Amino acid sequence: MKTPEAVVFDLGKVLIEFDWWRAARALAAHSDLPAEAVHRVLLQTPALMDYETGHTTTEEFFAAVGAGIGFRGDLAAFDPLFTGIFDPITDMIRLHADLRACGVPTYIFSNTNDLAIRHVRQNYPFFAGFDGYVLSYEHRAMKPHAALYEVVEKVTGRQGAALAYLDDRPENIATARQRGWHAILHETPAASRAALRQRGLPV
Ligand SMILES: [Mg+2]
Repeated sequence: MKTPEAVVFDLGKVLIEFDWWRAARALAAHSDLPAEAVHRVLLQTPALMDYETGHTTTEEFFAAVGAGIGFRGDLAAFDPLFTGIFDPITDMIRLHADLRACGVPTYIFSNTNDLAIRHVRQNYPFFAGFDGYVLSYEHRAMKPHAALYEVVEKVTGRQGAALAYLDDRPENIATARQRGWHAILHETPAASRAALRQRGLPV
C-alpha cells in the first residue's frame, strides 16, 4: 500500500466542533422567532446552502436569514451570533501539528462560508498552518460533489493514494474512496491518528 504524501483535513467536527443550536439560541434572543424556528431557517431553507456554494454573498445571506427570522440588528451584530458556534478539538490540532513537524504537507477541505472562515482565521492560530485551502464557497460546489475533489487534486498536485483524507461524514468519504484516496472516516482523534500511522505516516 502506497504511503500518502499529503493529508487533507475536513474542518467541522474534525478539527473544530460546532453546534448550530448555539447560533439558533443567540440569534433568537434578537429575533421574532424562538430558537427552534431559527434553527429551521438556518438548516432547512436554501439560504445556508446557497451561501456555502458561493451562489450568494455574505450580505445576501444575512438579508435572507435576517428577514426569515425577523432579526433586530445589522450584519455586524449578526456575525458573532452566527459564528459563535465553534470549539477547537485539541487532540486533532495536535495531530495536525505533529504532521507538520514531520514535514508532511496538509490541506483544509471544507463545506463552509466566508463568515465562518473569517471567524476561524481570527480565533484559531493553527488554521494558518496548512499548505492550502479548498473551501466550498470559493468553488461553487460542495462535498460530496466530485468537482470539489478535483479542486483538491489540483491544489495539492496529487491524486489517488498520494492523498490521505479525514472527514466525519460517510458520504464525503465515499466520493474520496471512489477517487482512490486513503479516505478515513473520522470518529475519534486516537482512531484517526492510528489510521494515519497504519498507512505509514510518522505520527
Ligand atoms: Mg465535518
